[in-house]
Amino acid sequence: MAAWFDGARRDLPWRRTHDPWRILVSEVMLQQTRVAVVGPYYERFLERYPDAAALAAAPEQEVLAQWSGLGYYTRARNLQRAARAVVDTGGFPRSYEEIRALPGVGEYTAAAVASIAFGLPHAAVDGNVVRVTARVFGEKGDVQTQRVRERLKKEAQRLLDPHRPGDYNQAVMELGATVCLPRNPQCLLCPWRDQCAARAAGIEQELPVKGRKREGVRVHLTLCIVERAGAVLLRQREAHSSRLAGFWDLPEARELPHAEIGDVLGRFKHSITRHDYTVEVRAARVVRAPRGFKWVGREDLAALPLSTMARKGLGAGGH
Ligand code: SF4
Repeated sequence: MAAWFDGARRDLPWRRTHDPWRILVSEVMLQQTRVAVVGPYYERFLERYPDAAALAAAPEQEVLAQWSGLGYYTRARNLQRAARAVVDTGGFPRSYEEIRALPGVGEYTAAAVASIAFGLPHAAVDGNVVRVTARVFGEKGDVQTQRVRERLKKEAQRLLDPHRPGDYNQAVMELGATVCLPRNPQCLLCPWRDQCAARAAGIEQELPVKGRKREGVRVHLTLCIVERAGAVLLRQREAHSSRLAGFWDLPEARELPHAEIGDVLGRFKHSITRHDYTVEVRAARVVRAPRGFKWVGREDLAALPLSTMARKGLGAGGH
């Protein structure tokens, strides 16, 4: 399998290193964000924070601004907490258990870092690996249940090549991302085609079995772009408010009861966990900034941690 990877690997920036810090950053970024989006963020972030000490010492607002656009900001906060833990203990931990104990690091990330940076034999099981393993072993149980997940983790650990665990883990992830696709798996190109139970039974399209997806809650809202003398009206979320504490938002129309609401500038859709938003962006005018809002110069926007909704809103409004 690792041999297949040697021939098929994509040249991605985080594949050119064994530095555990760089691998951790890439794995955290890739947790909920696609490879194509992560690439430029990864390079920029590491240019600014080339090691844990650099991130540990940075102001949180600056880190969030660097992360702005990747979403799921808890990851950035946890990464900074992890960097501080690395600095406090005098160096990057070298065992799976210690890596797993870093803030924001789950089983998957710990296994990926431990195997790729230190060659430790731990199978990294993400969504791609669950799909591949379920197909190879012909697992017909619901992969969203704990029982089946645990079974697949054991199978993945059994398949792991102990001599090249890092390459092996990356190979299975790569296989899931490029060959054993959710729809239309490319079995003829697969190194496991002769031992795959799902293919032998002709049920590769039906696996993995997943419980029914819950319907998202639909929400319609109107965001306003209010401009005055080259500045835009924004509100910073309070420190205790939520996971987006400290981020800046555009005002919603309902927050500006005295505003003159004008033309539609654009529309976009946005999903956060179970909420599917349909957002209309409108120009608006106010006589004075309501309580809690501030005028922010357009040239200062790039340095602010904007919520993804605000970023999309400004984009839809032509900023
Ligand atoms: S043979 Fe097909 S279904 Fe089985 S692991 Fe390979 S690509 Fe996936």
